[in-house]
Amino acid sequence: MTDTIFSKIIRREIPADIVYEDDEVLAFRDINPQAPLHVLFIPKVPIATLNDLTEADTLRIGKLVLAATRYAKAQGYGESGYRCVVNCNRDAGQTVFHLHLHLLAGRAMQWPPG
Ligand code: AMP
Repeated sequence: MTDTIFSKIIRREIPADIVYEDDEVLAFRDINPQAPLHVLFIPKVPIATLNDLTEADTLRIGKLVLAATRYAKAQGYGESGYRCVVNCNRDAGQTVFHLHLHLLAGRAMQWPPG
């Protein structure tokens, strides 16, 4: 997998507004927020897309989702709700090829998404 801007954020080569970190997960505010809360949760190991996940990533992805949901609840959005989105490839609009989970909250959202 080629290096991405998110690998540079993990290595602290470019700045980011980091809101959460543990051994396997990093989370930082999206530079172009689409909701009052818009945080990206990424695995520290580079995985390009959802298509690249294997059995070996099961625990890693579980931890990624748990980190996001715990953060959403800690920020007070457990009851009102929030949205978690993972875009995969062109038709979903993926632009950064380091798997990331968008956590969006703080406004009512539409369904279906555009
Ligand atoms: P996606 O379209 O699902 O690949 O989402 C990529 C997201 O990364 C977009 O919402 C961008 O606004 C966001 N993004 C790109 N560069 C940065 C950056 N340097 N810091 C924070 N977020 C970024």
